[in-house]
Amino acid sequence: MAPEHGIDGSIDRAVCVGSGPCFVIAPGAFALDLDMKAVILDAASETEERLLEAAAECPTQAIYLSKNGSSVYP
Ligand code: SF4
Repeated sequence: MAPEHGIDGSIDRAVCVGSGPCFVIAPGAFALDLDMKAVILDAASETEERLLEAAAECPTQAIYLSKNGSSVYP
């Protein structure tokens, strides 16, 4: 059963360098598109902890997480 943390994500594609590790840490939530930039898949398929870890490990700080319209990360 999917976690019901209510967190959603967005990617600043201008700074994403397509390197991972977001899609390695949380493959249900992040993937690369044909432009080799990250996109959000289904944030609810990953735990809050994994989403936060993925955001924290992004080398360019391209991942933004929010919950009910309020920033969770950064
Ligand atoms: S970790 Fe950051 S820079 Fe790397 S693919 Fe994911 S969003 Fe892009």
